[in-house]
Amino acid sequence: MKIVGKTKILGIIGHPVAHSLSPLMHNAAIEALGLDFVYVPFPVEPESLSAAVHGLRALGVRGFNVTIPHKSVVMPLLDKISPEAELCGAVNTVSNENGLLVGYNTDGTGLLKSLRDDLGFKPGGSVVLILGAGGAARGALASLCNAGVSRIIVANRTRERGEALVETFRDRFGKVSFHLSSLETGRLEENLKAADLLVNTTSVGMNGTSFDGLNLASMASHAKVYDMVYSPAETPLLADARRNGLACANGIGMLAAQGEAAFSIWTGVESPPGLMKDRVLAEIVA
Ligand code: NAP
Repeated sequence: MKIVGKTKILGIIGHPVAHSLSPLMHNAAIEALGLDFVYVPFPVEPESLSAAVHGLRALGVRGFNVTIPHKSVVMPLLDKISPEAELCGAVNTVSNENGLLVGYNTDGTGLLKSLRDDLGFKPGGSVVLILGAGGAARGALASLCNAGVSRIIVANRTRERGEALVETFRDRFGKVSFHLSSLETGRLEENLKAADLLVNTTSVGMNGTSFDGLNLASMASHAKVYDMVYSPAETPLLADARRNGLACANGIGMLAAQGEAAFSIWTGVESPPGLMKDRVLAEIVA
């Protein structure tokens, strides 16, 4: 990679950001396509967010990803927000359009692509059980509702947060039926039976943590399980799905697909198919 005077800068802001796999994915695509771009990590502490965003604009950075903890708080600092990001209440991609900062959310697009490519899942008319009600859950709901699911059940540890999420989406998507469930063992049973797809949008599973007493044995044999967590590659939830003979996938496909969508927004060209995912897999296995 040769950096010259005209090289365009892309990056990611977050805190921490050192663990991010995005620089690897994007620089692999830049290199493969021979584009005059470079993607760099920018660690940004919460109290420096506003200064950092103004700085990125002033420096003419072409675009940047936004990760934890800035995905929602960055929104008022931007000039325009896409309808999908507005609905999610979170931005993960910012494009600098000649000084105008436009916020997008590509997580939902990434989830749908991964569900299709990794699990062959078709959302139309399906029943989806979502574990969690944070930013990732909002992205999942927005994309699944737009893709035509018929019923969504949200199960969250903090009931009020689950309620707030369901209320927002119920107002917006009249054709989808929304339900709230407890995460507690036993209470989830009927919803597990009814679900065509279970999506874990919580951070449970990271570093091998698991949901207390959650057992997938009652899920229908055609049902699929998706875990947005990808480290470890096989979370306890996915191990349980496999034991029960259910098709399942971790969040690597989503990570790569949200990156591909951001890359197209910034560069106007598509990342070579499969390249970002292969690059991440190589890194995780290494
Ligand atoms: P967030 O807004 O902080 O929400 C966290 C969610 O996890 C909340 O629903 C929270 O429940 C729940 N939770 C946390 N600890 C829990 C526990 N011990 N038991 C039960 N529930 C628990 O975070 P986020 O942005 O939604 O991200 C959530 C996860 O999705 C992260 O692991 C992130 O890495 C992953 N993610 C992956 C991708 C991908 O591309 N694969 C993309 C986006 C996010 P409460 O409301 O009760 O606190």
